[in-house]
Formats: sequence, C-alpha cells, structure tokens
Amino acid sequence: MKDVLMNTYRRLPVTFSHGEGSWLFDAEGRRYLDGLSGIAVCALGHAHPAVARAVCEQAGRLVHTSNLYGIEQQRRLGERLTALAGMERAFFANSGAEANEAAIKLARLWGHRKGVDNPTIVVMENSFHGRTMATLTATGNRKVQAGFEPLVQGFARVPFGDLAALRTAARNLKEIVAVLVEPVQGEGGVQVPPDDYLPGVRALCDEQGWLLMLDEIQTGLGRTGKPFAFQHFEATPDVLTLAKALGNGVPIGACLARGEAAELFGPGSHGSTFGGNPLACAAALAVLDEMEKGRLWERAATLGERLLTGFRERLGSLEGVNDIRGRGLMIGIELDRPCGVLVERALEAGLLINVTAETVVRLLPPLVLSDEEARQLLEGVCELVETFLNEE
Ligand SMILES: *Cc1c(COP(=O)(O)O)cnc(C)c1O
Repeated sequence: MKDVLMNTYRRLPVTFSHGEGSWLFDAEGRRYLDGLSGIAVCALGHAHPAVARAVCEQAGRLVHTSNLYGIEQQRRLGERLTALAGMERAFFANSGAEANEAAIKLARLWGHRKGVDNPTIVVMENSFHGRTMATLTATGNRKVQAGFEPLVQGFARVPFGDLAALRTAARNLKEIVAVLVEPVQGEGGVQVPPDDYLPGVRALCDEQGWLLMLDEIQTGLGRTGKPFAFQHFEATPDVLTLAKALGNGVPIGACLARGEAAELFGPGSHGSTFGGNPLACAAALAVLDEMEKGRLWERAATLGERLLTGFRERLGSLEGVNDIRGRGLMIGIELDRPCGVLVERALEAGLLINVTAETVVRLLPPLVLSDEEARQLLEGVCELVETFLNEE
C-alpha cells in the first residue's frame, strides 16, 4: 500500500486511542505508562479535565479572529507569562522553532541597531533549536542539517558548558550580538552545565552588550523543578523561548523579552496568522492555572530527586552505565553503547521512554505522575537497562 504520509518519522508500531493522566491506551485497550509526555509536552498528563474544559468552552465561543484585532486571551496570557518569568513582553507563535525564529530576528534587529552589519549569534555544539532553516542552522547536530545546505548565515558555534570557549569567541569575532543556549540540553542528551556556566554567560553578555537568549522550549514551565530552568542558575535572560508544555498539546509557542530586546519589533516587523489565537491561548491559560495552583514544579523537583536517587542506587555502579543526570523530571541515563532498541522493548513492556543522542535513555514524564507511577517507571526502566547490559 502506498504511504500517503511523507517519510519523516521512524514510527513505533503503536497507535493510541485515548489517554488519562500518565497513561495512554491503544485500540486494543492495552495501557502504557507515559515516561515521555509527547516529548515534554503533556506536563499535566493526558485529557486533563481543566484543559479539556477550557478548549471546549473557547471552541464553542471563538476559535480564531486575527492579530488584526485585539485578542483578550492573548493579552492575559502575555501578562501571566511575563509575570511568571520576570519578562516584559511576549510574542506568540505556533511551535518551538517559530518561537526561536522570533528570537533570532530580535538578535538581528539588535545587531543592526548597534551598527553591526553581519550580526552573529553564538550557538552551542549538541544543541537543538528546531527544523526551520534558521533553527536547523542554529542546531548543533549535522544530521539535522545534512542535505539542506546552503544554511543560514550569521551563526558561530562553541562547545556547550565551556565559558573559556565563549570568551575566545568574544575576542576573535567582532560581530557577535547574542548567545542562544538551552539551560539544560534536551535532544543533546540531557546535558546539565556546570553551576557557574550560565551566570558566567550572563556576565559576558552584559560586558559585551550581547543578548542572552535562552531556549527553554523543553526545560520551561516546571519541567526542571522550577518554573523556568534559568531560575536554578541566577541567569535571567533578555529573551526566553517557550513552547512544548505551554498548551499541554495544543500548539503554541512564545518568545518573551525584557529591556531593550522587548522593544525591537514594530508593526510589520514580525507576525503570524495563527499565533496566539483565542483557542491556543485559552489552553495555555488553563495550563498556567493548573501549574501555579498545584505548584507542579515543586512536584517535579521532589519526584525528580527521588527518581535520580533511585536510578543511581540501582544502576549507578553497573558496568555500561556512564552517567545518570538531570534536573527535576528531565532525566538522562547515559550508557556506554547505542541503546535505541530499548524504546521498542519498553513499549512491549507497556512503558513509553525515549533514547536521544544514541546512548542516552531520556525520561520526561508528566509532572502529575503519582508516587506509585513514579515507582513503576523506576522499576520498569531499571529492569530494561539491567537486562540490556547483561546481554552483551
Ligand atoms: C522541541 C524543541 C524545539 C523545537 O520545537 P518544535 O515545536 O518542534 O518546533 C526547539 N528547542 C528545543 C530545546 C526543543 O526541545
């Protein structure tokens, strides 16, 4: 049979029909514990009643108007998000990549305003920023770029977590205007930088007049045990991008900014047909209500600590386990060999997990995971890893 969908994904042999909390169900009624949340999207779990209610009510009233008109839900969401993040203004898009596109455009405007003809944004090795032309160029993974040349100009790359390399770039490259970095790298293998890294980047940005632009598309909104990952490091960005968990699955992205960066766009300089429409904003407002009401980032911190300790106790001393790391409910178990096969084995065992950077088992469970579900996730993953390492 001819496949009508373009061949962009290696899909697992399962299709889900519905979900509830931390669980997904297939058509045969088999249930799966979700250790991935649709890649850090469904932080409130599946079919969350408050989000479902908000989406239904809004859909029954008004789905879309246009950014040609005022949008009350968008204004309220902007207020809530900027207050939570310590930012001043928001631009709404429909995805993570689009949120980063807005940030990249801000950096270029910032550069030109300062008289820099070819503004350069410093990005990191191993980073992931999306699949549009500018964001795949910013991404530090050749596989994401291969075949899509020519890439976009105006990016320079340094190793992640290496302040000295950034200082060297500052000396050698005169046209740098911004740094774009994930506080904890997600797709790159759950890479947590040294504690003094982001404060050091912040200080260098201040000294050089660069914008610090943090991609918190994966780490933002409670995932790492604080509302935003930068709050672990005392490094407030000038520009902050969000997406994944913001709508709990309803597509929405946001680019927040403060200070001069918040004033760079003017009418006509950027836009989006769908961005920040009433439906998406209603979903995001419900997400923020639930997240703040339940202080879910605190739950992520507690559960994350417990899981990290559990994994270290069970797996930490095994030959073949290189590292166990993470922040909050963003956890990586790095093995000494490629372990992509674990994803299918987990599926067979009724568990949804992910492997990224070839050797890192990555867990991004819903922040609403119960104690018992956390125990099941820990047990399931430990068994899979132990069996896998015993085979070879
Ligand atoms: C997922 C992700 C993106 C891209 O988001 P899309 O919605 O897929 O465009 C960008 N940056 C980071 C850090 C991500 O995890």
